[in-house]
Amino acid sequence: MKTETIAIHAGNKKDEASRAVIQPIIMSTTFERGEAGDFPGGHIYSRSSNPNRASLENVLAKLENGVDAASFSSGNAAGMAVFQSLPPGTHIIAPDDMYHGLRNQLKNLFAGILTFDFIDVNDTEVLQQHIKPETGIIWIETPSNPLLKITDIKKIVAIAKAKGIKVAVDNTFATPICQQPLSLGADIVMHSATKYFGGHSDLMGGALITAEKSDWWAKIRQVQEMGGAIPSPMDCYMLVRSIKTLPYRVRGHVQNAQLLAEFLEQHPKVEKVMYPGLPSHPQYHIAKDQMLAFGGMLSFTIKGDRDDTHNIINKLQLFTRATSLGGVESLIEHRATVEGPDTKTPFNLLRVSVGLEHIDDLIEDLSLALA
Ligand SMILES: *Cc1c(COP(=O)(O)O)cnc(C)c1O
Repeated sequence: MKTETIAIHAGNKKDEASRAVIQPIIMSTTFERGEAGDFPGGHIYSRSSNPNRASLENVLAKLENGVDAASFSSGNAAGMAVFQSLPPGTHIIAPDDMYHGLRNQLKNLFAGILTFDFIDVNDTEVLQQHIKPETGIIWIETPSNPLLKITDIKKIVAIAKAKGIKVAVDNTFATPICQQPLSLGADIVMHSATKYFGGHSDLMGGALITAEKSDWWAKIRQVQEMGGAIPSPMDCYMLVRSIKTLPYRVRGHVQNAQLLAEFLEQHPKVEKVMYPGLPSHPQYHIAKDQMLAFGGMLSFTIKGDRDDTHNIINKLQLFTRATSLGGVESLIEHRATVEGPDTKTPFNLLRVSVGLEHIDDLIEDLSLALA
């Protein structure tokens, strides 16, 4: 089946008793035993599994070309389940521009349990130098935040596989509509479902999808069930509902982002545009090779100082000043402010989550603000 069809059908289960076309939300925390002491409904207790979560995990696994998926109450909970599943002493290699929430998690919660190096994973020599006998996973995030750097997934997988190291990819920015890391050889994909999967900035969620049902995956399932950082049946329902339109929404985000990037690139007040769909992007050819589409996120730097940058954001009417991404509404953010005083992000950089408004309106808003 093709992606659009999977998105609509793989997360739905018609209700046999009521003949409801859309799967009902089952809020029950507990499920009745049969007379023989078994569980004919297939579920025992909602922390371990429930019908709405099972449907969500089914559609997530199929969209990413995986064999199984585990859903969580947030993207950070999903990332944390990966780290918690590793034996103490495991060494992790992660990008130096890893999503700051997960980087802080490693530094603040896993120091003394795991060891880690934050490096430029795109530099093969540096990567090779940091691989140790106890290296368990290489973490990839591509496109990266906020510079939209592209990492060659197949290249990292080849290096990792040769040494028996697993590869995990944070695929939040790309979504499975734009990039399918498991098909490129990665072992696990992580998502913040808060972003494009939810798509309407009104729910939090996370997911892990695996290429195989390994012992490692069994451990991740234990972290999910025993740790209990799970989404509610209501959240699962909302996600399944949103995922039905994911392929079409992402297509719209991509189309708008490409046009906005092209508009910004020729604007005299703009210094540089970072978008993998522009031939000027330093890793355009890698992006073209490994991505199915270039995504809905872009960053740009303006010709001017910090005040000029803030003035531009303050003049915008349609772009809301807020963090996060992947919703139908366009958001803009001054990343250096968010990341704090030790940030390496340029002061004149703005990150945009390109929404689904009409592109003419988005361009007009930005041209007025830049004027
Ligand atoms: C938002 C985000 C996360 C964390 O997800 P939450 O749902 O906020 O916990 C992880 N990685 C990336 C790339 C993100 O954008």
